[in-house]
Amino acid sequence: MPKSSKSKIKKTSKGKVKNVKSKKEKKTFQSPKGMRDILPSEQSQWEKLRKTVIETANFYNFSRIDTPILEDVEIFKRGTGIYTDIVEKQMFVLKTKGRDYLALRPENTPGIVRAYFENGLSRFAQPIKLYYFGPFFRYEQPQFGRYRQFHQVGFEILGGEDNPIYDAQAILTLFRLIEDLKIKNLTIQINSLGCKNCRTAYTKKLQEYYRKFSSKICKDCRRRISLNPLRLLDCKNENCKEIKEQAPTIIDFLCSSCRSHFRGVLEYLDELELPYVLNPCLVRGLDYYNRTVFEITAEGYDLSLGGGGRFDYLGELITGKKNSFRAVGSSLGVERIIELMNAKEIKGLTVPKAKVFLIQIGKPAKKRAFSLIEEFRNAGIKVVESLGKESLKSQLKLADKEKVELALILGQKEFFEESIIIRDMKSGVQETAPLNKVIDIVKRKLKKKTK
Ligand code: AMP
Repeated sequence: MPKSSKSKIKKTSKGKVKNVKSKKEKKTFQSPKGMRDILPSEQSQWEKLRKTVIETANFYNFSRIDTPILEDVEIFKRGTGIYTDIVEKQMFVLKTKGRDYLALRPENTPGIVRAYFENGLSRFAQPIKLYYFGPFFRYEQPQFGRYRQFHQVGFEILGGEDNPIYDAQAILTLFRLIEDLKIKNLTIQINSLGCKNCRTAYTKKLQEYYRKFSSKICKDCRRRISLNPLRLLDCKNENCKEIKEQAPTIIDFLCSSCRSHFRGVLEYLDELELPYVLNPCLVRGLDYYNRTVFEITAEGYDLSLGGGGRFDYLGELITGKKNSFRAVGSSLGVERIIELMNAKEIKGLTVPKAKVFLIQIGKPAKKRAFSLIEEFRNAGIKVVESLGKESLKSQLKLADKEKVELALILGQKEFFEESIIIRDMKSGVQETAPLNKVIDIVKRKLKKKTK
């Protein structure tokens, strides 16, 4: 909402006093609450992250996919789950002129699964490994590490078998990405939510247990008992904490095949000596997970950096048809990684600086300088300039600030003589060269300087 700077007090016909905004009032616009601009000064860290994402994805053979930012709201209701916080409280939903209800995607996995089926990706060799990078939207109370628009990187392994090696690979890929960004002391929190069969027995037990404490637990937990019992384990309320600690754990209810699947995942993590801890309270906020769920945390940072899990039932939920779809994936919160990079003073990607500054004086020289820059571009030499400036002094000052090695000066006289002055910024020595030879001469001089 724009902030109003001026408004007038007016009386209505009924004599009530009303605050009426003047038509001419000046408005100060701000970015929407919980959404922010990523300024040029922050881009080097984002670039580093993007580059590392591409390298990691390429190494582990994930191909990029981009899906629309808006999806049919039903996808999230069916996939993410109607009683999850994301769907119940956090979706930005809009009605189109065609009366469709679309949601600004709060997460990507249901959209990816939709794209998998819609585009016949099951016809390719399975599993198909996809990755994404983009903005997501959740109507949250903005605070440190929690925004209404944020970015996620995700890796999904879709189709194929439910072999635990894929669970381990989804975890490993995310882990290596964070590690490659020089963020250290990571821990993988891991749990298994079992399959439909073992989960039914477990949730029944959990409901029985929590019903005994219904007068002591928070209002949200009282609702969760019947609507979404697994989320009871997610509650951060202090009153519920002690009750949660004594609650039955799902591990004791896993059927033999879920148990052996979970053991398989842990063995693969052991093989690579990845640091994990079993967390029986880890359920994650999304309904579609089965078997493996995990989160990655870093020492000294309270929020999870990323997480994921297996979502074998999501294919059926999205298509409404029985199928043998199996999948596992992971995603990472980009803003949280950037916050950590800042806190740990981890440098971003540095763009190579230009070594040449082109100074122009006078209208004809300015025009010629404009095309000369293109000639340097074709020769692969980066040039900085300040084309709006007129005086030699101010442009030399800028060249100095840019710490370039050479300044090229194209003035009125040089323009008519088809020459150019080449100034060595360190020694101050100047020479005049023919304009049509300047690129070769600059190339040679720069080569000499890097020797
Ligand atoms: P989720 O999709 O809920 O499993 O979240 C995956 C990761 O995305 C989390 O571990 C966070 O790093 C990040 N994340 C989720 N919600 C937000 C948010 N509102 N603001 C910033 N990052 C978020």
